[in-house]
Amino acid sequence: MKKLLYVLAAGVLISCQTQSENTDMQTDNPFYQEWDTPYGVPPFGQIKNKHYSPAFEDGMAQHLKEVEAIAGNPDAPTFDNTIEAFEKSGDLLNKVSNVFFTLTGAHTNDSIQAIQKEISPLLSAHNDNIFLNSDFFDRVKALYEDRENLVLTIEQNKLLENYYNRFIRSGAALDKEQKARMREINERISVLQVQFGENVLKEENKFELLLEEDQLDGLPENVKTAGAEAAAEKGYEGKYLFTTHRPSLYPFITYSENRELRKQLKMGYIMRGDNGGELDNKEILREIVNLRLEKANMLGFDTHADYALQDRMLNTPDNVYDLLDKVWPAAIEAAKKERDLMKAMSVEEGLDIDIMPWDWWYYAEKIKVRDYSLDESEISPYLMVDNVINGSFILANKLFGLTFEEQTNIPKYHPDVRTYTVKNENGELVGIYLSDWFYRSSKRGGAWMSNIREQSNMDGNEVIPIIYNVGNFNKPTADKPSLLSMDQALTLFHEFGHALHGLLSECTYPSISGTATPRDFVEFPSQVMENWVFEPEMLAQYAFHYETGEVMPDDLVQKIRKAGTFNQGFGTVEYMAASYLDMAYHTITEPLAMDINQFEDAAMNEIGLIDAIVPRYRSTYFRHITGGYSAGYYSYLNSEIMDADAFAAFKENGLFDETTANAFREHILSRGGTMDAMEMYVNFRGRKPSYEGLLERRGFN
Ligand SMILES: [Zn+2]
Repeated sequence: MKKLLYVLAAGVLISCQTQSENTDMQTDNPFYQEWDTPYGVPPFGQIKNKHYSPAFEDGMAQHLKEVEAIAGNPDAPTFDNTIEAFEKSGDLLNKVSNVFFTLTGAHTNDSIQAIQKEISPLLSAHNDNIFLNSDFFDRVKALYEDRENLVLTIEQNKLLENYYNRFIRSGAALDKEQKARMREINERISVLQVQFGENVLKEENKFELLLEEDQLDGLPENVKTAGAEAAAEKGYEGKYLFTTHRPSLYPFITYSENRELRKQLKMGYIMRGDNGGELDNKEILREIVNLRLEKANMLGFDTHADYALQDRMLNTPDNVYDLLDKVWPAAIEAAKKERDLMKAMSVEEGLDIDIMPWDWWYYAEKIKVRDYSLDESEISPYLMVDNVINGSFILANKLFGLTFEEQTNIPKYHPDVRTYTVKNENGELVGIYLSDWFYRSSKRGGAWMSNIREQSNMDGNEVIPIIYNVGNFNKPTADKPSLLSMDQALTLFHEFGHALHGLLSECTYPSISGTATPRDFVEFPSQVMENWVFEPEMLAQYAFHYETGEVMPDDLVQKIRKAGTFNQGFGTVEYMAASYLDMAYHTITEPLAMDINQFEDAAMNEIGLIDAIVPRYRSTYFRHITGGYSAGYYSYLNSEIMDADAFAAFKENGLFDETTANAFREHILSRGGTMDAMEMYVNFRGRKPSYEGLLERRGFN
């Protein structure tokens, strides 16, 4: 408890100091002002790096005062004076956080990174100051226990339940000693997580496969060039360097004809964190899973998985295993068939080998060329970025009646950002959409969606959402358009699906609106959008050749469709093996004493994984499970079951069927996290999701 008081005091102290220091700054600090910009989009042009820290510190201090006022309210707790009051609190902190965390991802710099390091521990302490506040918890608990007698809407009930669980899960109900132990555990886990990740990175950077010119048989010219450049960069002139970084690893194990070298590189990859010495991650992982078990037990859960799954759609370990066990038999059968095809190919080549993990990519590529004849370079000219963006807007219009109009007067944080108003079928404004699709060095890798302002509607005060998408596609140049790969086109529609989930939200409370849904549900509205991308009816709307303007010819469309089931056994098995491994670690009921490698082997033997495939992540570099995806790596599969099953409804009723689209919008996209996720799905589909759609899509039946 002492520690808690100390952190609390420190927090107040910092802000007292800064408050007096900052009085001058407040007059020109945009975070302290009302924004009179179009639609209340942050005035990015006026926000300077120096404005963040004071706004964060004052924002936390103000928020804490509001929380203390709620917790210390002499009136008996009501939903309004406790839960709703909390939803309305933290204005300044929200304002600065939303801008700041947009830029840490999309347009960062050294000074933002320095602020982030400084502010992260303060924010996590701030969080503890709220969710370990006993007076606040007592009020929430009293309401929760009396919930049958309160007259609450479905949404209010869900919100109350969320807060109650959040307090419990943070340890608010524990005694002093336990709370102290809880903080110790949390701190220790966060140190171990960082160390685990750093070790993986160091191991990755350490491994080198350095080759001579005569060891490059089979490699295409561009792969050789990349190898030569990598070698030159490290001072190995005239040689060729390949590493376990994926852009180096995959081309090599796909094309190299030298089986021994493929094995060396692949082994380098799968042994990361498992080589003994100071970078070995086995003991770190053991400590993490054991600490998690201790924490779960303290909070009254049998296992960490029970704890982690409490607020998910599949809310028990049994539900997760049920899902995995339904898909696994068909997946492993398909993978065995794929392996046998490869084996047959090796026999034809006169080798007759047992297919191993370092052979899979090599033979898969040969089969792809022989049986599918799909050449990406024929597809890309039909996927010019502006056309694909346009395609996503057309889809939103056909399904949900939305129109996107580009605007020039909305503030943006970088010139590459494009800004749109989004209107519904009646011409009413539903949201603001920013897109930022092109690579630049100030952006982190990957693609994502987030919001600058959540949708909410408290006391008739309707707040429309400000949603953005970010990507890393090549920027067009004066003489070269930006042509997307098939994967990139899918990514664009995927992230746009998240954006629609944010834009079409019609909820009351901001903390459960839009994409604030369980982790194993949130990828559903995004993944489902990928289904339309290569449907012939959809391609006819947007896939025009960038030079001739011709729509994609039928034979190309057919090739794309045929290749859709290629190598799916492998992809599914590799992913699911890692999901089983994740669950195995987090369903232990006694501290783990066994050697980590033995534990992994036992878990993989139990599901009958074949020698030709290793899990997508082995224990010692499985960063998802040391981070936020513990007992959650299965989530992608759960979302995919729903997306395949939901899309089947569109296939049955028509690709752009109005009734189906309306039901999807009403029961899924508009609801945020305001209801039980399974209930939402059942309301949309009339039944629980069936996994048959997924098996069919992946070619497993
Ligand atoms: Zn996603």
